[in-house]
Amino acid sequence: MNETPGEETLDPEDWPQLRALAHRAVDDALDYLQQTRERAVWRPTPPEVVAHFHAPLPHAPQGAAAAYQDFRDWVMPWQMGNTHPRFWGWYMGNGTAFGALGDFLAATVNPNMGGGNHVANEVETQVVDWCRQIVGMPPETGGLLVSGASMANFVAMAVARNHAATVDVRAAGVASLPRPLVFYASTEVHSCLQKAIELLGHGSRAFRRVAVDDSYRIDPEVLTRAIAADREAGAQPCAVIGNAGTINTGAVDDLAKLAAICHREKLWFHVDGAIGAVVALAPNHRQLVQGIELADSVALDLHKWLHIPFEAGCVLVRDRKAHRATFSLTPDYLKHAQRGLASGADWFSDYGLQLTRGFRALKVWLSFKEHGLDKYGRLIDQNIAQAMRLAEFVRAEPELELLAPVSLNIVCFRYRGAGGSQAQLNALNEELLIRLHESGVAVPSYTTLGGNYCLRAAIANHRTRGADLSLLIDAVLRGGRELARQP
Ligand SMILES: *Cc1c(COP(=O)(O)O)cnc(C)c1O
Repeated sequence: MNETPGEETLDPEDWPQLRALAHRAVDDALDYLQQTRERAVWRPTPPEVVAHFHAPLPHAPQGAAAAYQDFRDWVMPWQMGNTHPRFWGWYMGNGTAFGALGDFLAATVNPNMGGGNHVANEVETQVVDWCRQIVGMPPETGGLLVSGASMANFVAMAVARNHAATVDVRAAGVASLPRPLVFYASTEVHSCLQKAIELLGHGSRAFRRVAVDDSYRIDPEVLTRAIAADREAGAQPCAVIGNAGTINTGAVDDLAKLAAICHREKLWFHVDGAIGAVVALAPNHRQLVQGIELADSVALDLHKWLHIPFEAGCVLVRDRKAHRATFSLTPDYLKHAQRGLASGADWFSDYGLQLTRGFRALKVWLSFKEHGLDKYGRLIDQNIAQAMRLAEFVRAEPELELLAPVSLNIVCFRYRGAGGSQAQLNALNEELLIRLHESGVAVPSYTTLGGNYCLRAAIANHRTRGADLSLLIDAVLRGGRELARQP
């Protein structure tokens, strides 16, 4: 190719040189993952490292090799720790080596998944349909990949709302609704659903938080009464959100029961399956989420218990037409053609908020093919068995106390030693958790149940081994005793 003098490109000037750097980066990345267990789970970022990120805007080139070296020196060593076998904080996945390659390959071909007629759309369509098959929804179900369950829940709530509205909300807005729409979930529902309902314009007061039983599952009687009371008061019940695995304790609502209530009351049935939708893959526990297949919509996270590298979530909607009617908007510059690149009836941008969308489907497609879904199912069973064993350790140790029943892979407990007031035990366990994090030995997280501060281990980790949980118990006992001795 003849070059016009002065023209530039971002392509490498020296391809062999970048190729060598790329090979080194792959070697370093695989070393990093292979040696995960040998590192501290987490350590604080030292001030001199933080200072490095106050550098001025780099107008002049450093070159790929120097930029990469900066990543090696200043970024790679100071990670969150969620690739580690003893990371059980909040609720996260670990990622995988091949999944990371999937992100690299997706960025290499770099299609825009907003629309157009190209094969990457077939990959995403297939991945969404595989997700549908995982939860057992009917073949007409559609959906799309999104950043995670927060966005999946948002999309589903938007469709549920527009479907229930007795006016054209897209044109006239929520202010034109003759009766306020109300939404229902248990008190244990994830905060992202409240955000969704707020952002859809209904206000958090339109979100009824229904009481739970001793196992933190929604009480269907209380739900039914709340629906009746709202109707009585002139409101319009819109949707019930079932939890397939709550964030606090992993509780799974009786989804079949909720489906029946929604059917009877003519309400939209949505399931937040960020944690538990994929339990449908696990041979020993799939009965826990029975009824999920009856939902009108389901939010799944693929970057949690299926360990796809962040970000990857999926929303499934049974009524494809209602889904499209909520998001489709086709100005002239996005018109779908009959033939050519701009053809294709269904563009993913007609089903969500994003126009430009990345090729996150590729890492999911590659990972599902790499391992097969049966293996993911066994790993989910493995984590649940590990959580049950951890709960057994806790029950068997008088200095520890289990604070919630374990139904899935989340264990809430505390060090109680010789006992103390709630305030004393809360303060002790809060400090104990910080010390655990700072020691680099293990990263559980925390929640509060009935006023009791809990250490909370969410075992969604394909690298965890039984011995890792013994290490956790030892570290909690050691730390707890030390703190209990201090005046
Ligand atoms: C993590 C989580 C969410 C939010 O999902 P993101 O992927 O973080 O957006 C919603 N619900 C539950 C139960 C979760 O665990």
